[in-house]
Amino acid sequence: MATKLEYIWLDGYKPTQSLRSKTKIVKEFSGKVEDLDNWSFDGSSTEQAPGGSSDCILKPVFVVPDPQRKSAYLVMCEVLSADGKPHESNGRATIADDDNDFWFGFEQEYFLWDPSTSKPLGFPAAGYPAPQGPYYCSVGAKNAFGREIVEEHLDACLEAGLNVEGINAEVAAGQWEFQIFAKGAKEAGDQIWVARYLLERIGEKYGVAINWHCKPLGQLDWNGSGMHANFSNTTLRTANSKAIFEAICESFRPAVAECIAVYGADNDQRLTGKHETASIHDFSYGVSDRGASIRIPLYAVDHNWSGYLEDRRPNSAADPYKVAAVIIKTVKTAKL
Ligand code: ADP
Ligand code: MN
Ligand code: MN
Ligand code: MN
Ligand code: MN
Repeated sequence: MATKLEYIWLDGYKPTQSLRSKTKIVKEFSGKVEDLDNWSFDGSSTEQAPGGSSDCILKPVFVVPDPQRKSAYLVMCEVLSADGKPHESNGRATIADDDNDFWFGFEQEYFLWDPSTSKPLGFPAAGYPAPQGPYYCSVGAKNAFGREIVEEHLDACLEAGLNVEGINAEVAAGQWEFQIFAKGAKEAGDQIWVARYLLERIGEKYGVAINWHCKPLGQLDWNGSGMHANFSNTTLRTANSKAIFEAICESFRPAVAECIAVYGADNDQRLTGKHETASIHDFSYGVSDRGASIRIPLYAVDHNWSGYLEDRRPNSAADPYKVAAVIIKTVKTAKL
């Protein structure tokens, strides 16, 4: 049966890459990524190649059923240059150590955004809605805006087989979150990017854009958007030791610049020390501390210092491939 394959990739825009995709029809498809052919696209239209030699290559790396089209799949791809080497925009290919003993739970926050007013859903045409307070995990038309989009996205992710673990309305009006859990840096990144793709596409139906910027309302009293990275490896999961938790937290101290470099654009606007963040200039960790760079969840303390950590610094627009990769690299430098 004719099958629609949506080849998805990340463009070459800096500092934040966007999703691009196009459809390929094939006669037959097994559903297995290894049976998919490479394809090509015009890199001169995506900031990935000069017009004179514009072909870039799409290499399929992750495939799930497309829950919104008949007889269709979503195909996450890496971008290669014409010579077959990873393109410089290909963050997935830079994952040096895709250690599947590392588990990630990303909390992806975002704003549902009205493109005609350039404001979040729930914001009046003039001025602002009531101050933050009632919106987080709210119910009711006074405080929760855009739930039909969020629900449709949740169903689509589940039908695609993505490991969504939950959703919630966030602190700002029109702001929401979904959580996805996966093992290994590549798998975690693939799942987040495909979930972002589905959200963007569902938004189209409603004329609602997704704003991934980490501080879309500027320095007003509105929360920014993060992508908290919860992570663990066997050492953390079976630590039974406060000292091990502290040593792993300490491993991030000399890596602050390296981490911040991939934790998303404009993070200085978000990591101000206010709105449940730590200052971008500081490094701190603490039990249950939502004002720290890294939070030690109470869960870990309650489980005799075993479990996971939450790096609260990655922002909503960060590339999860790069975030996961730097976490694996950094944890492996811990002096245990
Ligand atoms: P928060 O209280 O920060 O809002 P959430 O419930 O939104 O926390 O997200 C916490 C995430 O932590 C979960 O979605 C889950 O995927 C992740 N998580 C739980 N246990 C582990 C673990 N052992 N390793 C990695 N991630 C984990
Ligand atoms: Mn053409
Ligand atoms: Mn959360
Ligand atoms: Mn949140
Ligand atoms: Mn969190």
